[in-house]
Amino acid sequence: MNNNIEVAISRCEDYKKDNISKALDEALSLIGGLDFIKSGMNVVIKANLVGPMNPNKAATTNPDLLLELSRRIIERGASVTIGDSPGGPFTKLYLGQVYKATGLKDLEEFGIKLNDDFGETRVEFKQAIKCKEIPITEYLLKADVIINCCKLKSHGMMALSCGVKNLYGIVPGTTKQEFHFRYPDYNDFANMLIDLNEFLKPSLTVVDGVVAMEGNGPTAGVPKNVGLIIASKNQYKLDFICAHLIGLSRENVPTIEESFKRGLIPADVHDISCNMSIDDLVIKDFDIRKTHRQIDFANSSKLTGKLFNKFMRSRPMVKKDECIGCEKCKNVCPAKAIIMVNGKPKICKKKCITCFCCQEFCPKGAMKVKKTWLSKLIEKK
Ligand code: SF4
Ligand code: SF4
Repeated sequence: MNNNIEVAISRCEDYKKDNISKALDEALSLIGGLDFIKSGMNVVIKANLVGPMNPNKAATTNPDLLLELSRRIIERGASVTIGDSPGGPFTKLYLGQVYKATGLKDLEEFGIKLNDDFGETRVEFKQAIKCKEIPITEYLLKADVIINCCKLKSHGMMALSCGVKNLYGIVPGTTKQEFHFRYPDYNDFANMLIDLNEFLKPSLTVVDGVVAMEGNGPTAGVPKNVGLIIASKNQYKLDFICAHLIGLSRENVPTIEESFKRGLIPADVHDISCNMSIDDLVIKDFDIRKTHRQIDFANSSKLTGKLFNKFMRSRPMVKKDECIGCEKCKNVCPAKAIIMVNGKPKICKKKCITCFCCQEFCPKGAMKVKKTWLSKLIEKK
Protein backbone atom coordinates (compact mmCIF):
# COMPACT_ATOMS: atom_id res chain seq x y z
CA MET A 1 0.00 0.00 0.00
CA ASN A 2 1.27 3.44 -0.97
CA ASN A 3 1.72 5.74 2.02
CA ASN A 4 0.98 8.81 -0.08
CA ILE A 5 -2.71 9.51 -0.13
CA GLU A 6 -4.00 9.30 -3.71
CA VAL A 7 -7.66 9.95 -2.94
CA ALA A 8 -8.67 12.05 0.06
CA ILE A 9 -12.12 11.84 1.61
CA SER A 10 -13.53 14.34 4.13
CA ARG A 11 -16.84 14.33 5.89
CA CYS A 12 -19.02 17.37 5.22
CA GLU A 13 -22.58 17.14 6.43
CA ASP A 14 -23.98 20.18 4.62
CA TYR A 15 -23.09 23.24 2.54
CA LYS A 16 -22.56 25.62 5.47
CA LYS A 17 -19.46 27.70 4.85
CA ASP A 18 -17.56 26.49 7.92
CA ASN A 19 -18.23 22.84 7.17
CA ILE A 20 -17.20 23.11 3.52
CA SER A 21 -14.06 25.08 4.46
CA LYS A 22 -12.98 22.51 7.01
CA ALA A 23 -13.64 19.51 4.77
CA LEU A 24 -12.05 21.10 1.71
CA ASP A 25 -8.90 22.14 3.58
CA GLU A 26 -8.62 18.69 5.13
CA ALA A 27 -8.99 16.88 1.80
CA LEU A 28 -6.67 19.21 -0.10
CA SER A 29 -3.95 19.07 2.54
CA LEU A 30 -3.93 15.26 2.33
CA ILE A 31 -3.08 15.33 -1.37
CA GLY A 32 -0.50 18.10 -1.35
CA GLY A 33 -2.68 21.22 -1.28
CA LEU A 34 -2.89 23.86 -3.98
CA ASP A 35 0.83 24.61 -4.25
CA PHE A 36 0.71 24.06 -7.99
CA ILE A 37 -1.29 27.29 -8.29
CA LYS A 38 0.93 30.36 -8.67
CA SER A 39 0.19 34.05 -8.64
CA GLY A 40 -1.02 35.40 -11.98
CA MET A 41 -2.28 32.07 -13.26
CA ASN A 42 -5.57 31.73 -15.08
CA VAL A 43 -7.32 28.86 -13.31
CA VAL A 44 -10.42 27.36 -14.90
CA ILE A 45 -12.80 25.31 -12.79
CA LYS A 46 -14.76 22.93 -14.95
CA ALA A 47 -17.98 22.49 -12.97
CA ASN A 48 -20.96 20.27 -13.68
CA LEU A 49 -23.63 22.67 -14.97
CA VAL A 50 -25.75 20.11 -16.76
CA GLY A 51 -28.69 22.47 -17.18
CA PRO A 52 -30.57 25.46 -15.73
CA MET A 53 -31.37 23.68 -12.48
CA ASN A 54 -31.62 24.83 -8.89
CA PRO A 55 -28.76 23.57 -6.68
CA ASN A 56 -31.23 21.75 -4.42
CA LYS A 57 -31.96 19.32 -7.28
CA ALA A 58 -28.39 18.00 -6.80
CA ALA A 59 -27.74 17.80 -10.53
CA THR A 60 -25.06 20.50 -10.63
CA THR A 61 -21.94 21.30 -8.59
CA ASN A 62 -23.02 23.24 -5.53
CA PRO A 63 -22.17 26.98 -5.75
CA ASP A 64 -21.04 27.17 -2.09
CA LEU A 65 -18.42 24.51 -2.69
CA LEU A 66 -17.31 26.29 -5.87
CA LEU A 67 -17.06 29.53 -3.89
CA GLU A 68 -14.84 28.04 -1.18
CA LEU A 69 -12.61 26.34 -3.74
CA SER A 70 -12.32 29.58 -5.73
CA ARG A 71 -11.51 31.62 -2.63
CA ARG A 72 -8.47 29.44 -1.99
CA ILE A 73 -7.27 29.94 -5.55
CA ILE A 74 -7.81 33.70 -5.50
CA GLU A 75 -5.89 33.93 -2.19
CA ARG A 76 -2.91 32.60 -4.12
CA GLY A 77 -3.09 35.53 -6.53
CA ALA A 78 -4.59 33.56 -9.41
CA SER A 79 -7.80 34.36 -11.27
CA VAL A 80 -10.74 31.94 -11.41
CA THR A 81 -13.11 31.28 -14.28
CA ILE A 82 -15.89 28.74 -13.81
CA GLY A 83 -17.35 27.17 -16.91
CA ASP A 84 -19.07 24.25 -18.56
CA SER A 85 -20.89 23.47 -21.75
CA PRO A 86 -24.16 21.72 -20.96
CA GLY A 87 -25.99 19.72 -23.59
CA GLY A 88 -28.00 22.71 -24.88
CA PRO A 89 -26.59 25.43 -27.12
CA PHE A 90 -23.18 26.81 -26.10
CA THR A 91 -24.34 30.43 -26.20
CA LYS A 92 -24.34 33.46 -23.96
CA LEU A 93 -28.12 33.36 -23.72
CA TYR A 94 -28.38 29.73 -22.63
CA LEU A 95 -25.39 29.80 -20.28
CA GLY A 96 -26.82 33.00 -18.75
CA GLN A 97 -29.90 30.99 -17.76
CA VAL A 98 -27.74 28.17 -16.45
CA TYR A 99 -25.54 30.48 -14.33
CA LYS A 100 -28.63 32.08 -12.83
CA ALA A 101 -30.52 28.88 -12.05
CA THR A 102 -27.50 27.04 -10.61
CA GLY A 103 -26.67 29.89 -8.23
CA LEU A 104 -23.37 30.69 -9.95
CA LYS A 105 -24.39 34.21 -10.91
CA ASP A 106 -24.09 35.17 -7.22
CA LEU A 107 -20.41 34.18 -7.23
CA GLU A 108 -19.43 37.10 -9.47
CA GLU A 109 -19.48 39.49 -6.52
CA PHE A 110 -16.58 37.50 -5.04
CA GLY A 111 -14.35 38.22 -8.02
CA ILE A 112 -15.08 34.91 -9.73
CA LYS A 113 -15.55 35.05 -13.49
CA LEU A 114 -18.21 32.97 -15.19
CA ASN A 115 -17.03 31.91 -18.61
CA ASP A 116 -18.24 34.27 -21.34
CA ASP A 117 -16.05 32.99 -24.15
CA PHE A 118 -18.24 30.87 -26.39
CA GLY A 119 -15.63 30.08 -28.98
CA GLU A 120 -15.26 26.52 -30.23
CA THR A 121 -12.41 24.82 -32.01
CA ARG A 122 -10.99 21.37 -32.85
CA VAL A 123 -7.66 20.11 -31.62
CA GLU A 124 -5.62 17.17 -32.78
CA PHE A 125 -4.73 14.56 -30.14
CA LYS A 126 -2.48 11.97 -31.75
CA GLN A 127 -2.10 9.79 -28.62
CA ALA A 128 -5.87 9.26 -28.44
CA ILE A 129 -7.25 5.76 -28.69
CA LYS A 130 -10.70 6.76 -29.96
CA CYS A 131 -10.91 10.49 -30.43
CA LYS A 132 -7.95 11.90 -32.32
CA GLU A 133 -9.71 15.15 -33.16
CA ILE A 134 -11.37 16.76 -30.18
CA PRO A 135 -14.00 19.48 -30.54
CA ILE A 136 -13.44 21.72 -27.56
CA THR A 137 -14.73 24.87 -25.90
CA GLU A 138 -11.93 27.37 -26.44
CA TYR A 139 -11.82 28.97 -22.99
CA LEU A 140 -10.28 25.78 -21.61
CA LEU A 141 -7.30 26.09 -23.93
CA LYS A 142 -6.49 29.47 -22.40
CA ALA A 143 -6.21 28.06 -18.87
CA ASP A 144 -2.89 27.65 -17.06
CA VAL A 145 -4.50 25.16 -14.70
CA ILE A 146 -7.75 23.20 -14.97
CA ILE A 147 -9.61 21.97 -11.91
CA ASN A 148 -12.40 19.47 -12.37
CA CYS A 149 -15.17 20.07 -9.81
CA CYS A 150 -17.88 17.53 -10.42
CA LYS A 151 -21.01 16.14 -8.79
CA LEU A 152 -21.44 12.56 -7.63
CA LYS A 153 -24.42 11.14 -9.53
CA SER A 154 -25.86 7.98 -10.94
CA HIS A 155 -26.03 8.08 -14.73
CA GLY A 156 -28.47 6.43 -17.12
CA MET A 157 -25.93 5.59 -19.78
CA MET A 158 -22.57 5.37 -18.03
CA ALA A 159 -23.82 4.26 -14.58
CA LEU A 160 -21.65 6.90 -12.84
CA SER A 161 -21.23 10.61 -13.38
CA CYS A 162 -18.17 11.82 -11.50
CA GLY A 163 -14.65 12.98 -12.44
CA VAL A 164 -14.03 11.37 -15.82
CA LYS A 165 -17.57 11.85 -17.17
CA ASN A 166 -17.61 15.49 -16.12
CA LEU A 167 -15.07 16.34 -18.79
CA TYR A 168 -17.60 15.48 -21.50
CA GLY A 169 -18.61 19.10 -20.90
CA ILE A 170 -15.52 20.24 -22.78
CA VAL A 171 -17.26 19.17 -25.99
CA PRO A 172 -19.32 22.15 -27.17
CA GLY A 173 -23.11 22.01 -26.74
CA THR A 174 -24.87 20.18 -29.48
CA THR A 175 -21.70 18.47 -30.78
CA LYS A 176 -22.27 16.09 -27.88
CA GLN A 177 -25.23 14.59 -29.72
CA GLU A 178 -23.00 13.98 -32.75
CA PHE A 179 -20.54 12.19 -30.45
CA HIS A 180 -23.23 9.95 -29.00
CA PHE A 181 -24.05 8.89 -32.51
CA ARG A 182 -20.38 8.42 -33.41
CA TYR A 183 -19.66 6.27 -30.34
CA PRO A 184 -22.84 4.25 -29.71
CA ASP A 185 -20.85 1.43 -28.10
CA TYR A 186 -20.43 2.16 -24.39
CA ASN A 187 -16.81 1.00 -24.31
CA ASP A 188 -15.96 3.25 -27.27
CA PHE A 189 -17.78 6.12 -25.59
CA ALA A 190 -15.83 5.48 -22.39
CA ASN A 191 -12.54 5.49 -24.30
CA MET A 192 -13.49 8.75 -25.96
CA LEU A 193 -14.11 10.21 -22.49
CA ILE A 194 -10.74 8.96 -21.30
CA ASP A 195 -9.12 10.55 -24.36
CA LEU A 196 -10.68 13.88 -23.39
CA ASN A 197 -9.31 13.46 -19.86
CA GLU A 198 -5.86 12.53 -21.12
CA PHE A 199 -5.86 15.57 -23.40
CA LEU A 200 -7.03 18.04 -20.79
CA LYS A 201 -5.16 16.56 -17.82
CA PRO A 202 -6.90 18.41 -14.97
CA SER A 203 -4.48 19.16 -12.13
CA LEU A 204 -7.05 18.32 -9.50
CA THR A 205 -10.52 16.80 -9.24
CA VAL A 206 -12.87 17.71 -6.40
CA VAL A 207 -16.15 15.83 -6.00
CA ASP A 208 -19.24 17.41 -4.54
CA GLY A 209 -20.57 14.38 -2.70
CA VAL A 210 -22.19 16.35 0.09
CA VAL A 211 -25.58 15.84 -1.51
CA ALA A 212 -25.30 13.40 -4.41
CA MET A 213 -27.92 12.29 -6.92
CA GLU A 214 -29.26 8.75 -6.95
CA GLY A 215 -31.80 7.03 -9.17
CA ASN A 216 -32.79 8.53 -12.51
CA GLY A 217 -29.57 10.57 -12.90
CA PRO A 218 -27.90 12.64 -14.21
CA THR A 219 -30.76 15.18 -14.16
CA ALA A 220 -33.97 13.59 -12.90
CA GLY A 221 -32.73 11.58 -9.94
CA VAL A 222 -33.28 12.18 -6.25
CA PRO A 223 -30.89 14.11 -3.95
CA LYS A 224 -29.13 11.82 -1.51
CA ASN A 225 -27.22 12.99 1.55
CA VAL A 226 -23.83 11.38 1.33
CA GLY A 227 -21.89 13.97 3.33
CA LEU A 228 -18.52 13.69 1.62
CA ILE A 229 -16.05 15.84 -0.26
CA ILE A 230 -13.55 13.77 -2.20
CA ALA A 231 -10.39 15.06 -3.88
CA SER A 232 -7.57 13.64 -5.92
CA LYS A 233 -5.02 14.55 -8.55
CA ASN A 234 -5.97 11.34 -10.33
CA GLN A 235 -9.58 11.37 -11.53
CA TYR A 236 -9.50 7.70 -12.62
CA LYS A 237 -8.62 6.45 -9.14
CA LEU A 238 -11.03 8.92 -7.61
CA ASP A 239 -13.88 7.61 -9.80
CA PHE A 240 -13.06 4.04 -8.85
CA ILE A 241 -13.38 4.90 -5.16
CA CYS A 242 -16.55 6.95 -5.67
CA ALA A 243 -18.14 4.08 -7.61
CA HIS A 244 -17.27 1.70 -4.78
CA LEU A 245 -18.84 4.05 -2.25
CA ILE A 246 -22.20 3.96 -4.05
CA GLY A 247 -22.16 0.24 -4.72
CA LEU A 248 -20.82 0.07 -8.28
CA SER A 249 -18.04 -2.28 -9.28
CA ARG A 250 -15.32 -1.72 -11.86
CA GLU A 251 -17.27 -3.83 -14.37
CA ASN A 252 -20.46 -1.78 -13.89
CA VAL A 253 -18.89 1.47 -15.06
CA PRO A 254 -17.45 1.53 -18.60
CA THR A 255 -15.07 4.45 -17.93
CA ILE A 256 -13.61 2.61 -14.94
CA GLU A 257 -13.26 -0.69 -16.75
CA GLU A 258 -11.61 1.00 -19.74
CA SER A 259 -9.31 3.00 -17.40
CA PHE A 260 -8.25 -0.32 -15.95
CA LYS A 261 -7.56 -1.76 -19.41
CA ARG A 262 -5.39 1.26 -20.14
CA GLY A 263 -3.39 0.72 -16.96
CA LEU A 264 -4.64 3.91 -15.31
CA ILE A 265 -6.06 2.22 -12.22
CA PRO A 266 -5.32 -0.99 -10.31
CA ALA A 267 -7.61 -4.02 -10.61
CA ASP A 268 -8.72 -3.74 -6.99
CA VAL A 269 -10.11 -0.52 -5.57
CA HIS A 270 -8.49 -1.35 -2.21
CA ASP A 271 -5.07 -0.89 -3.80
CA ILE A 272 -5.74 2.85 -4.12
CA SER A 273 -4.30 4.76 -1.20
CA CYS A 274 -7.02 6.59 0.71
CA ASN A 275 -7.18 8.23 4.15
CA MET A 276 -10.34 6.36 5.20
CA SER A 277 -11.56 2.80 5.14
CA ILE A 278 -13.67 2.86 1.99
CA ASP A 279 -15.61 -0.28 2.91
CA ASP A 280 -16.91 1.46 6.03
CA LEU A 281 -18.21 4.33 3.90
CA VAL A 282 -20.20 2.29 1.36
CA ILE A 283 -23.77 3.55 1.09
CA LYS A 284 -25.69 0.34 0.84
CA ASP A 285 -29.05 1.81 -0.12
CA PHE A 286 -27.78 4.16 -2.86
CA ASP A 287 -30.11 3.71 -5.85
CA ILE A 288 -27.84 3.05 -8.81
CA ARG A 289 -28.70 2.31 -12.41
CA LYS A 290 -26.44 -0.48 -13.52
CA THR A 291 -27.26 -0.03 -17.15
CA HIS A 292 -25.49 -2.66 -19.08
CA ARG A 293 -22.53 -4.53 -17.75
CA GLN A 294 -23.67 -6.93 -15.09
CA ILE A 295 -22.52 -9.57 -17.55
CA ASP A 296 -19.73 -8.63 -19.89
CA PHE A 297 -20.57 -9.76 -23.39
CA ALA A 298 -18.56 -6.97 -24.93
CA ASN A 299 -15.75 -9.19 -26.14
CA SER A 300 -17.91 -12.13 -27.08
CA SER A 301 -19.16 -13.27 -30.47
CA LYS A 302 -21.64 -11.38 -32.63
CA LEU A 303 -24.41 -13.71 -31.52
CA THR A 304 -23.85 -13.17 -27.79
CA GLY A 305 -23.53 -9.45 -28.53
CA LYS A 306 -26.98 -9.55 -30.16
CA LEU A 307 -28.41 -11.56 -27.29
CA PHE A 308 -26.94 -9.07 -24.84
CA ASN A 309 -28.58 -6.22 -26.72
CA LYS A 310 -31.94 -7.92 -26.68
CA PHE A 311 -32.04 -9.33 -23.16
CA MET A 312 -29.68 -7.19 -21.07
CA ARG A 313 -29.38 -3.67 -22.40
CA SER A 314 -31.49 -1.13 -20.53
CA ARG A 315 -33.61 1.14 -22.70
CA PRO A 316 -35.37 4.49 -22.35
CA MET A 317 -39.08 4.33 -21.60
CA VAL A 318 -41.61 7.17 -21.49
CA LYS A 319 -43.82 7.42 -18.45
CA LYS A 320 -46.76 8.92 -20.30
CA ASP A 321 -48.58 10.34 -17.27
CA GLU A 322 -45.48 12.40 -16.36
CA CYS A 323 -44.79 13.55 -19.94
CA ILE A 324 -45.88 17.07 -20.93
CA GLY A 325 -45.24 16.55 -24.66
CA CYS A 326 -42.55 19.25 -24.88
CA GLU A 327 -40.62 17.34 -27.60
CA LYS A 328 -37.22 18.03 -26.00
CA CYS A 329 -36.38 14.31 -26.11
CA LYS A 330 -37.25 14.19 -29.79
CA ASN A 331 -35.09 17.20 -30.54
CA VAL A 332 -31.99 15.98 -28.68
CA CYS A 333 -32.14 12.38 -29.91
CA PRO A 334 -28.97 11.96 -32.02
CA ALA A 335 -30.34 8.85 -33.74
CA LYS A 336 -33.67 10.46 -34.71
CA ALA A 337 -35.30 7.51 -32.98
CA ILE A 338 -38.21 9.46 -31.48
CA ILE A 339 -41.44 10.52 -33.14
CA MET A 340 -44.39 12.18 -31.45
CA VAL A 341 -47.64 10.24 -31.53
CA ASN A 342 -50.72 11.89 -30.02
CA GLY A 343 -48.47 14.41 -28.28
CA LYS A 344 -46.24 11.78 -26.61
CA PRO A 345 -42.85 10.44 -27.72
CA LYS A 346 -42.60 7.02 -29.29
CA ILE A 347 -39.16 5.40 -29.48
CA CYS A 348 -38.09 3.27 -32.42
CA LYS A 349 -36.11 0.42 -30.80
CA LYS A 350 -34.21 -0.37 -33.98
CA LYS A 351 -32.88 3.17 -34.35
CA CYS A 352 -32.22 3.78 -30.64
CA ILE A 353 -28.51 3.70 -29.69
CA THR A 354 -29.34 3.81 -25.93
CA CYS A 355 -27.36 6.98 -25.34
CA PHE A 356 -30.00 8.23 -22.84
CA CYS A 357 -29.79 11.83 -24.06
CA CYS A 358 -33.61 11.81 -24.01
CA GLN A 359 -33.56 10.80 -20.36
CA GLU A 360 -30.92 13.39 -19.49
CA PHE A 361 -32.77 16.27 -21.12
CA CYS A 362 -36.37 15.50 -20.18
CA PRO A 363 -37.39 18.45 -17.97
CA LYS A 364 -39.98 16.36 -16.12
CA GLY A 365 -38.00 13.18 -15.51
CA ALA A 366 -40.64 11.36 -17.57
CA MET A 367 -38.07 9.40 -19.56
CA LYS A 368 -36.93 6.49 -17.41
CA VAL A 369 -34.26 3.84 -17.69
CA LYS A 370 -36.05 0.55 -18.18
CA LYS A 371 -34.13 -2.56 -17.22
CA THR A 372 -34.90 -5.85 -18.93
CA TRP A 373 -36.38 -8.72 -16.88
CA LEU A 374 -33.11 -10.66 -17.26
CA SER A 375 -30.88 -7.88 -15.98
CA LYS A 376 -33.28 -7.36 -13.04
CA LEU A 377 -33.09 -11.05 -12.26
CA ILE A 378 -29.28 -11.10 -12.40
CA GLU A 379 -29.08 -8.00 -10.25
CA LYS A 380 -31.28 -9.65 -7.60
CA LYS A 381 -29.04 -12.71 -7.60
S1 SF4 B 1 -34.31 7.43 -28.03
FE1 SF4 B 1 -33.13 8.28 -26.33
S2 SF4 B 1 -31.64 6.70 -25.86
FE2 SF4 B 1 -32.46 6.22 -27.88
S3 SF4 B 1 -31.03 7.19 -29.29
FE3 SF4 B 1 -32.66 8.65 -28.91
S4 SF4 B 1 -31.91 9.93 -27.25
FE4 SF4 B 1 -30.63 8.09 -27.30
S1 SF4 C 1 -38.75 15.48 -22.97
FE1 SF4 C 1 -39.90 14.41 -21.38
S2 SF4 C 1 -41.73 15.64 -21.08
FE2 SF4 C 1 -40.80 16.30 -23.01
S3 SF4 C 1 -41.85 15.04 -24.57
FE3 SF4 C 1 -40.01 13.95 -23.98
S4 SF4 C 1 -40.64 12.55 -22.35
FE4 SF4 C 1 -42.24 14.07 -22.58
